[in-house]
This record gives sequence, C-alpha cells and structure tokens, in this order.
Amino acid sequence: MSIYDVIIVGGGHGGAQAAIALRQAKFEGSIAVFSNEEFLPYERPPLSKEYFAGEKTFERILIRPESFWQERHIDIHLNSRVNKVDSDLRTITLANGKHYGFGKLIWATGGQPRWLTCPGAELKGVHVIRNRDDVDDILANLHDAQNITIIGGGYIGLEAAAVLRKLDKNVVLVEAQDRLLARVAGQEISDFYLKEHQEHGVDVRLNEGLVSIEGREGCVSNVTLKSGETINSDLIITGIGIVPSINALRDAGAICGNGVDVDALCRTSLPDIFAIGDCASHANKYAAGTVMRVESVQNANDMASAVAKTITGSETEYDAVPWFWSNQYDLRLQTVGLSVGYDDVVMRGDLGARKFSLIYLRQGKVIALDCVNATKDYVQGRKLVLSNDKIDPALLADSNIPLKEMQVG
Ligand SMILES: Cc1cc2nc3c(=O)[nH]c(=O)nc-3n(C[C@H](O)[C@H](O)[C@H](O)COP(=O)(O)OP(=O)(O)OC[C@H]3O[C@@H](n4cnc5c(N)ncnc54)[C@H](O)[C@@H]3O)c2cc1C
Repeated sequence: MSIYDVIIVGGGHGGAQAAIALRQAKFEGSIAVFSNEEFLPYERPPLSKEYFAGEKTFERILIRPESFWQERHIDIHLNSRVNKVDSDLRTITLANGKHYGFGKLIWATGGQPRWLTCPGAELKGVHVIRNRDDVDDILANLHDAQNITIIGGGYIGLEAAAVLRKLDKNVVLVEAQDRLLARVAGQEISDFYLKEHQEHGVDVRLNEGLVSIEGREGCVSNVTLKSGETINSDLIITGIGIVPSINALRDAGAICGNGVDVDALCRTSLPDIFAIGDCASHANKYAAGTVMRVESVQNANDMASAVAKTITGSETEYDAVPWFWSNQYDLRLQTVGLSVGYDDVVMRGDLGARKFSLIYLRQGKVIALDCVNATKDYVQGRKLVLSNDKIDPALLADSNIPLKEMQVG
C-alpha cells in the first residue's frame, strides 16, 4: 500500500489549489490528488460560459498544465473514485479496491447536481452542467436541438440561457420561485435579470414547475408544466443545485449536516481530516456566523490555502471575504460579501444604463454588494464590507461619490 503525507480527494478548484498551496508553502512531503474525473484539474465556471459557448478550448481552462503537476511531484490519480475512508487506519479505498495511506487528508469533493425526480427524468436529453463530460454531452446533441427547456433560474440556468440565445436556440426557462436568483440576490437584481433575459428572447416562467417529461423513442420530446401547459423540448438542462459529495466521510464518522461540518481551521470532527470547498459546511464570519456551504471558486481556493498553511505549521483560520461573478450577455455581475440576513438595500447607479450596484446593509453596515458592469464599486465596496463601519444609505446611493471615500477611519 502506498502512503502519502497528504492525500487530497477531489481534483476540482479546492483540491488543485490545496496541492498548489502546499508546494508554495514549501511542503516537501508526498502529495496525491485522487479525482474521479478523467481530466486534469480544470476551471468549472467556463462550463456554463466560454467553454459552453465554444469561445475557450478545454486546454485554456486547465488550472495548470500537465508539466506543472509533474515538476512539483504532485501525483494526480485520475478515474479514481474514493469510496471509503478509515480514519483509525488512516487509509482511503478506491472504487477499484486499492488502498492508500495518508498522514493528512483533505476532502474536496464538491457536490453532485440534484436530479429531477418527475416522470421522464431518465429520458435521453435531460442534462446537468457540473463537469466537462456534461457539457460535451450537451454540445454533442445541440446541433439537432432547437427547443431547449432550462429548469432553474439560478446562475447556472441563466448563464446557460444566455449562451443558448447567442446560439439562436429557443429557450424556455422554468423557475419555481416568484423571481430569478431568489436564493442569492435582492429583488432589484432579480427584476433586472428577468427583463434582460426576456429582452434577449428567453421565455421565462416564474412560479412554475415540471410535472413530467414526455419522450419519443427514449428521447425527450416535450415537458408538461404545473399549469398544465405542454412545451416542445428537444433538450432539457437542469440547474437546481447540488448535493454535497460526503458519503464516504459521513460513513467514516465525520459529523455532517448539509455538508461536512468543519471548524474555523477547516478541520472535520475526524483527526487530521480537513474538508474544503462546496462540500464544507462552516460558520461564515461574513454571514454573522451562519453555518453554511458556500459554492464559489473563491471559497474553495481560500479554504485550500488556509488548510495548506495549517498543515505546514502556521495555523490559519478561514475568514476570507466572499466574492463571486457571473457573465450573462454583456453583463458582468460581481458580488462581494454575503447578503444573508440583510435588513436594508440601497440602489446605486443607473439601472437604465445597465451599470449599477445593489448594496446590502445589516444594522446600518454594508455586508454585501451586487455590482452589474460596475467594477469600481465592486473593488471599492470590498473595503466597506471589511470595515464594518455604519454608512449613511443616502451617501451610498450617490454614485457621484466614490465608495472609497465613504470609509469612516
Ligand atoms: C457550470 C458552473 C459554473 C460556475 N460558475 C461559477 C462562477 O462564475 N464563479 C464562481 O465563483 N463559482 C462558480 N461555480 C462554482 C464553482 O465552480 C465551485 O464552487 C467550485 O468548483 C468548488 O470547488 P470544489 O473543489 O469544492 O469542487 P469541484 O470543483 O466540484 O471539485 C470536486 C471534484 O471532486 C470530484 N469527486 C467527487 N467525489 C469524489 C470521490 N469520491 N473521489 C474522487 N473524486 C471525487 C468531482 O468529480 C470533482 O472533480 C460554477 C460551477 C459550475 C458547475
């Protein structure tokens, strides 16, 4: 049995960054990354943006070229699903039965897309977007598909809709809530994106749901909505969230809720086992300590870097400011902070000019910003989120005054 000083399970953003950061911190021990995918670590955000639109090749979205991993003696085991963790023996077991030993284990497995459960969900033509194979599969079938139904009005569904409209496909987007981006953004952002998508020709159905998917010869042909309406669909893309991939850790005895529970150092309840990224449930300082999973590249990378520092001897708590972005049409949305629990919201800038920021406050303090084509606000607003100062909402609303001039002390 091979034994590694550090084993990282999952070769996505968090897993790759953990290995990179360990070597940056001059860690000289052996490192292995086990990934159940057949590809070297790559960026996931372009899967619903540039890669999906054919604007970036796969090589351009690799996190590092192959030579990088070899030169730094990071063993990447592809097609290697980890099925079992034994925290007493300090071993992992792969689906093919092989065992490996570890000194420290970093669990960075992200999550699996939630699947539809309605009748017909198993038909050919129902897709998700989580990994490269998912997108290649959609692209392989896209030529013959003109009518696409997207289920879910979150970031992935909306980004996919924007790409598909560029490709001149007919798009119906079905959202269960009464507004788009309901889980992550304020009403004004939801209304703005609704209008944008409608103006670009997306047929958005709010307060709607799927009752069933009908097929012809095993392939999707139409969907039936809650309202009773039937819509022609050659292809369906679902973007209804993920379920964290934590079974092996839970079976090993790690305390889990909606994800693997970790402390401020990203330690699970099992000795020398850390968890990072989408699968790690933590108390986030920027959400007043709310225990949550954050699904973003920033969160995965910064947790990975914190763990690498801790493993190399300088205990480092994860407390990075959250940020995120989404590209749809010519709109660049950049968010900083977490708006969880906001009690006031300020509109800054010009909605009509498609350049504005929505600023979220809690007890008078700025806790988050959603900036649309407003990078300056995004950059300067970060400092407001960090400063914890109370700022007059009337000042915040005045776009003639730069946000950087609003810091008190
Ligand atoms: C289409 C799409 C668009 C996105 N856009 C953005 C964006 O614009 N901005 C942003 O900040 N975030 C975006 N995200 C979210 C971001 O990609 C994730 O938050 C980030 O990838 C999380 O990193 P992670 O390492 O936790 O998980 P992942 O990157 O998902 O990596 C987990 C890896 O572990 C593997 N794995 C799972 N189980 C096992 C196992 N048992 N054994 C071995 N390997 C396993 C998985 O196959 C995967 O390769 C997007 C996500 C998607 C899917």
